[in-house]
Amino acid sequence: MIFKQLFDDLSCTFTYLIGSETSREAVIIDPVLENIDEYLLELNKLKLGLIKVIETHTHADHFSGSSELKSRTNCKTLMGEHTKAEVVEIKVKDDEIVKVGDLNIKAMYTPGHTLDSYSFLMKDRIFSGDTLLINGTGRTDFQDGSAKDSYESIFNRLLKLPEKTLLYPAHDYKGEKVSTIGKEKKFNPRLQVKDMSEYLDIMNNLNLPKPKLIDIAVKRNLKLGAL
Ligand code: FE
Repeated sequence: MIFKQLFDDLSCTFTYLIGSETSREAVIIDPVLENIDEYLLELNKLKLGLIKVIETHTHADHFSGSSELKSRTNCKTLMGEHTKAEVVEIKVKDDEIVKVGDLNIKAMYTPGHTLDSYSFLMKDRIFSGDTLLINGTGRTDFQDGSAKDSYESIFNRLLKLPEKTLLYPAHDYKGEKVSTIGKEKKFNPRLQVKDMSEYLDIMNNLNLPKPKLIDIAVKRNLKLGAL
C-alpha cells in the first residue's frame, strides 16, 4: 500500500492519498481545492492513476478539491449516502466496501459533527473525518450536527475498533499527525466522561465562533468545490 498524509496550512486539513502497489490505482480523501496541483504532482511521481475521490463530509472551512480533481483526472466522486451534494457520483451506505485496486476501504456512517459524516476504515487505520479528532471531537453546532449522534458514533462505533487502530483525522490544529483508538480512549479529554449526558454538556457549551468561511464553503462544497 502506498500512503501519503498531506496538510493544508491554511485550514489545517489533512488530505490522504492511498494507492495500490499492484494496480497503481489511487484514491484521495478530503482534497483541498488550492492544493490540487500538489496532489497531481504526487500522483505522477508515484506513478498512480486516481480513480476515486472521497469526501468524509460537507466541509465548512475550506473548498473541496473533488470537483476539480474529477475534471482533471476523470476520477469518480464518492460520499456517504446522507450527503446533500447531488453531483456526487457514488453514494455509499454504512458498512459498504469501496474498492481501489486490491485495497478495501469500509465506509462507516458516523454522524454527529454533521449529518453526512462518514469514517473510512482501511486495514489498520481509520480516516475519521471530523467525527473523532486527536484530543478532540468535531463540533456539533451546525450542518445538522448532533452531540448525541457524535457520542453514539464515537463510543458505539469508533472506540469499538481494536485499540491499536491508527487514527487519521481530517484536521489537527496543534501539530499532531496520527493517534490510535487506544490513546484517544485513554487521553482524549472529551472522552473522559461517565455517560452521554456529561458529553452533551461539554459539546453544548463549547461556545465556538462561527467558522469564517461557512456560508460560502458549504454552498460551494455541495457542488464539491465547483463554482
Ligand atoms: Fe468539518
